[in-house]
Amino acid sequence: MLKDLRIYNTLSREKELFEPVNPPYVGMYVCGPTVYGDAHLGHARPAITFDVIFRYLTHLGYKVRYVRNITDVGHLEHDADEGEDKISKKAKLEQLEPMEVVDRHTASYRRDMDALNVLRPNIEPRASGHIIEQIEMIKEIIENGFAYVVNGSVYFDVKKYNESGQYGKLSGRKIEDLLSGTRELEGSSEKRNPLDFALWKKASPEHIMRWPSPWSDGFPGWHLECSAMSAKYLGKRFDIHGGGMDLLFPHHECEIAQSNACNHTDPAKYWLHNNMITINGQKMGKSLGNFIMLHELFTGRHELLAEAYSPMTIRFFILQAHYRSTLDFSNEALIAARKGYKKMINGLRVAKGMNFIDDGGEPEQKHIDDVNQTIDNCYRAMNDDFNTALAIGHAFNLLKKINLLHTQTLKYAALGEETFNKLKQFYIAFVEDILGLREERTADIENFINPMLEIYKEAKLAKDYAKVDQIRAGLRKNGILVKDMKWGVDWAYEE
Ligand code: ZN
Repeated sequence: MLKDLRIYNTLSREKELFEPVNPPYVGMYVCGPTVYGDAHLGHARPAITFDVIFRYLTHLGYKVRYVRNITDVGHLEHDADEGEDKISKKAKLEQLEPMEVVDRHTASYRRDMDALNVLRPNIEPRASGHIIEQIEMIKEIIENGFAYVVNGSVYFDVKKYNESGQYGKLSGRKIEDLLSGTRELEGSSEKRNPLDFALWKKASPEHIMRWPSPWSDGFPGWHLECSAMSAKYLGKRFDIHGGGMDLLFPHHECEIAQSNACNHTDPAKYWLHNNMITINGQKMGKSLGNFIMLHELFTGRHELLAEAYSPMTIRFFILQAHYRSTLDFSNEALIAARKGYKKMINGLRVAKGMNFIDDGGEPEQKHIDDVNQTIDNCYRAMNDDFNTALAIGHAFNLLKKINLLHTQTLKYAALGEETFNKLKQFYIAFVEDILGLREERTADIENFINPMLEIYKEAKLAKDYAKVDQIRAGLRKNGILVKDMKWGVDWAYEE
């Protein structure tokens, strides 16, 4: 059953059985951020989507090499290919050296991703550190006849490529339709064809980020870095290439063309794309004023936010939807996600503290079957193109069993030791290792709660109900609920 992982491949538009090129190794490349600003809500979705894919493949026993790049050069403002470099523009505005902009925003991106419990990729290469590899690739593409040089710049020849290759096969676009949809080239353009894209651009005198090349002092085109770096670290043909749906065209389409023109093969076997986040039904956009930075979400400092939302609430919110569905952000949705997260994490605390005891009675097959069936359902959902939304639903059914045991409504003996251990281990692994959720707590929370609970117990014994209420209210202010159990006093996060 564990082997039946099926992945929706954008390239074939079908769910395909996952069969790595070179098992048990899996190469995964995901397009990372262009680091000229702080990370916003839109950055969280691809990062979390591919983090869970990375975690799940690892859980299944694959040896995954995960590469996610940092774009620090060559991403131009208009159509990625024209206008000013996004990094240099920011550097000029802030009177910084471009690499200061890059380091500052790489650090803030990592800080936000760490908060979201997104695991660091195995390799995080930068475009500016791979200029030589990109130049070598351009040379090869020119030699193979798929690129031309004009005034020190090099362009990919889409028409020529399309004679033997298939430009548009990933996005499902036809070259004739694409051509009729583009503006006529202006007289000043160096491109032979509006669909051609830059592999190398000659730098204008005021352009600061520049490197020598056989064609001019200049810089590489944006699409090229991913082709060069994925081939360097994962080989010419690897397993999974991922990114947001906004990168599907032209970025990934161009990557496929470049790799075929240079290496005579499609770079990746499976292409995965996460859908986008909308805000109150609208696309995110700077001009709409609904661009919410992650640090603003974490602190609640944005006019659209009713309150602050913790990183794990954001993570749970994103995982509650399948990665290929749209996901609409709203305060109501976030508040609901927080409840779901708290419920799941209360279950984690309870599960971790549980140990099998022989509390008498016979094993009950119905409960045993229930647990096994529900665990299978979780795997089935994850194996169906990483359906975290469905898997979370099944995990809540497991949680019901855990809570029945915790409240002594169900006897441990009814499950038997083996099934109980399976339930406990799977729930913990699913929440922590696969979904990547963790308890958000200050280290000294136990030091604060436990003495309070001792006073609570004494007050209860002494029937000092004023004090009992006072302690309950005090803990509740800190998001902690006191629970009177059959066997004593416990606490949980308020959901
Ligand atoms: Zn890319």
